[in-house]
Amino acid sequence: MSVMIITGASRGIGAATAKLAAARGYAVAINYVSNREAAEQVVSDIESAGGRALAVQADMAHEADIVRLFETVDRELGTLDVLVNNAGVIDRIARLDEMSAERIERMMRINITGPFLCAREAVKRMSTRHGGKGGAIVNISSAAAHRGGAGEYVDYAASKGAIDTFTEGLAKEVAAEGIRVNTVRPGVVHTEIHASGGNPDKPEKSSQAIPMGRAGEPDEIAHGILWLAGGEASFATGACLDIDGGV
Ligand code: NAP
Repeated sequence: MSVMIITGASRGIGAATAKLAAARGYAVAINYVSNREAAEQVVSDIESAGGRALAVQADMAHEADIVRLFETVDRELGTLDVLVNNAGVIDRIARLDEMSAERIERMMRINITGPFLCAREAVKRMSTRHGGKGGAIVNISSAAAHRGGAGEYVDYAASKGAIDTFTEGLAKEVAAEGIRVNTVRPGVVHTEIHASGGNPDKPEKSSQAIPMGRAGEPDEIAHGILWLAGGEASFATGACLDIDGGV
């Protein structure tokens, strides 16, 4: 059974990806930070459908938590095949001249340092250089990375820009070691992330600006993630897949 870690898989895009991955035969580690109930619900949905899953609490802002997440998966599920770097946060709508250093540092820590450290742990396990058998990393960026987030959250947009560049570089660094590294860049998707930024109606409010006239669903992102994670994408590395209704 192939093993996949999905960070931030208790809700939203991560939860949809976990259910789809389990249906395709992956044993899935469902990482979450505080919503244990939601994570356990994803595990129970997967188990009811005959799949294998494990909920693991770990805060992407803390290196020790990330190391513990990977060690738990080594022990409980076995050799890692795929990492989906999905956990990410936004903050209240603000201009740069209203942002505190604490806000910016928190954003960069969760959205950049966390994925870097998760990828480091994955490379240590997957790289043929370290005796591994290869694998795939899928980073979740955002359309905000190329749109910039002006007047809303330039900090979030810039954190996702860093993820795009990281994908480009890491893909080349480990391409000859059996690891593919790719990005999925979603546009606006119906999840609870918008409420966490104080803008719960964002999917509806953005519809007119999206060429397809609507926001996306988590499942529509999950299918792209699963494609990049699997053997059908065997020649894809350093790629960026925009799934955004055409923005
Ligand atoms: P969401 O519905 O808000 O869910 C966020 C998930 O991340 C939850 O499982 C949450 O765990 C977890 N999480 C938050 N902070 C964490 C931390 N410090 N450590 C570990 N886990 C943490 O988010 P989403 O909309 O599905 O977004 C998933 C990814 O897609 C993010 O990277 C986001 O930037 C990106 N994205 C989303 C959209 C969109 O419109 N939704 C668009 C473009 C890109 P708890 O349940 O424990 O809180």
